[in-house]
Parts: sequence; structure tokens; C-alpha cells
Amino acid sequence: MKENRSFGAVLTLVLLFLLPLPSRAAATKTLDIYFIDVEGGAATLIVTPTGRSLLIDTGFPGDRDAGRIAHVALEIAGLKQIDHCVITHWHRDHVGGVPALAKLIPIKNYYDHGLPQTLGSDLQAEFIDAYKQTTEGKSITLKPGDEIKLQRSPKYLPPLDVRVIAAGGMVLGEQSIAPQVRPCGENFEARAEDTSDNVNSVAILLTFGRFKFFDGGDVTWNIENRLVCPKNLIGPVDVFQVDHHGVDSSNNPTMVRAIQPRVAIIDDGPRKGAEPNTFATLKQSPLIEAIYQLHRNLRSADKENAMVGYIANEEEACLGNFIKLSVEPDARSYTVSIPAKQISRSYRTR
Ligand SMILES: [Zn+2]
Repeated sequence: MKENRSFGAVLTLVLLFLLPLPSRAAATKTLDIYFIDVEGGAATLIVTPTGRSLLIDTGFPGDRDAGRIAHVALEIAGLKQIDHCVITHWHRDHVGGVPALAKLIPIKNYYDHGLPQTLGSDLQAEFIDAYKQTTEGKSITLKPGDEIKLQRSPKYLPPLDVRVIAAGGMVLGEQSIAPQVRPCGENFEARAEDTSDNVNSVAILLTFGRFKFFDGGDVTWNIENRLVCPKNLIGPVDVFQVDHHGVDSSNNPTMVRAIQPRVAIIDDGPRKGAEPNTFATLKQSPLIEAIYQLHRNLRSADKENAMVGYIANEEEACLGNFIKLSVEPDARSYTVSIPAKQISRSYRTR
């Protein structure tokens, strides 16, 4: 009798193991993030395990960047359309590619921080007008706290959450009247108020199970301080798309220390971004394991650039090599690769 009972228990366990869970589907494919080289602009393509897509920024105006983005989306990621496209802010290296890209691949939904009421001296009407024409005025204005729904079912595992934590100069939980410069924290360093549209950048935190990725667009120093003080709204992350192409007016060390990235990826150009203070801040970050750059910064010494093998494009006359990040279906590890160089390395999720 005793033996029969234990046989029955084993059988039940085996059956339980074999039966699919009725209400939760586990991911079988990776979550992929492509950092497309637009030579000092931004274009980050996220593809979920179920094939949904989100493009954050579209590079510069013209055919070069649109062509590179469409190539990755259509031929590398195998997409037929871009489901969601977020324009972090109105600078030409982010919004510029929209009209040309929309001719190469259908883009279903557009998001931004709101069309400007008046044009600041850093904004050019032609790119905003071209965007309005392409989107037919149907873009969605993002506010801190908004979610961009990428997953077909909330029951899909691991859960995926794409959340706006800053937009329009406001960070999550703050009132719209909050001043830009707000002293906070022991190491607070005042910087002059930034009057450019960079402060309005949409900042996105992606969580996939245990894996966390932060893309802050071009947010600058004062906003970065508010993102981590008094409350750390970003939290520790696995991968940090370095703010503002690695320019030193962004990448406040207070924020970088607070988010403790393991892997940093800089979407710089040969002569834009990946600046020395930012590079030093990243290198000094206690848990950093790797720094990647889309381009070698030709204005900096080798010691202020990522190591050989961590740079996708060495020369100014480049082929536009992209960096690919793939998070395993269980989100416990991820791989960063430079496919054109056949380089890839794996990291454990924190
Ligand atoms: Zn930019």
C-alpha cells in the first residue's frame, strides 16, 4: 500500500509537470533591444518575445538613419510594422527620421511629450511640422506614470512593464508646478536651469521579470537628480542607455550611483557624446561590468573610450554597426552582442 501511494504521488507530480499551466504562458523567445547606429542621434528598437515592437527615437532627418532603422526592423528583427514609436523630445537627432522611416515601414502609434506651444531657439519648425504631417496629428502625449502596453496578455511571463517616469520636465509623483532645480541629497550640485527641450525628454523604465533597462532620452543634470532624489524612481538597473549620448551636461554622478548599472551602452557618434566626465562616472560606478559605445569618440584618448571589442564602430566612415541586447526568456541573464564583429558576452541579471 505504501509503495502504491508513493507511486501515485510521483505520478501526480509528473502529470503536474507535464500539464501546461492553464492561465500563465511562459516566454520562449528573448526580449531584444537593438541600439541602432544613427551617429550621435538615438534609435532604440525593443522587440518583445511575442513580437510586439517599440521604437524609441528615429535618428536624424534623411534616408541614412531611416534606412538603418528599417533594415534592423525588417530584416534583422523580422518585423512587418513598428507597433509603437516614442519620440523622447523634439530635437532633430530624435524626431528627424520619422517621415523617411514611415515610408519604409508602417508605424502604428506615435507618442511624445506634447507638441510645443512656442518654439524655443533649440527647436526647428520643419521637423515638428513633418512629424505632425506624418502622424496626421494623432500622436499620444505621455505623462509620468503612463504605461506603453506591449504585451498582448498581462498573464504572459515574465511580466513586461514599460513605464514613463519623466516627461515634459516632470518626474513621476511631482506636481506640474515643480521647479526644475530642486536641491536634494548630500552630493547635490546646482547646475543652471536647462532651457532646452532636453529637460522635457520622455524617460522610460522597462522591467522584464528581474531585468531592468533605463532609457532617459536626453534628460539633463537637474532632472536626473530629481529622478533619484528624494526617491529613487529608477532603482538599480541592469542596463543603462547612457543619457544624452554620453554628454557631460547629463549623466549626473548622483543618478549613476543611484541606478548602479551593470552594463552601460552609449549611443554616441564619432564626434558627439561619450564625453570624458561621463565616461569617468560610468567607470567609477561600483557595480559596472561593461561599457559599450556605438562609436569610438575620436576626440578623446583611448583610455577615455570603451575597450576594443566593446565599440561597434571604430571609424568615422562606418557601416553603421548596431549593438544587440537579448534577454533570455526567464530574464535571468542577457547577452550583449555586436553582430557585425561577431562579438558577444553574457551577463547575469542582478
Ligand atoms: Zn540627442
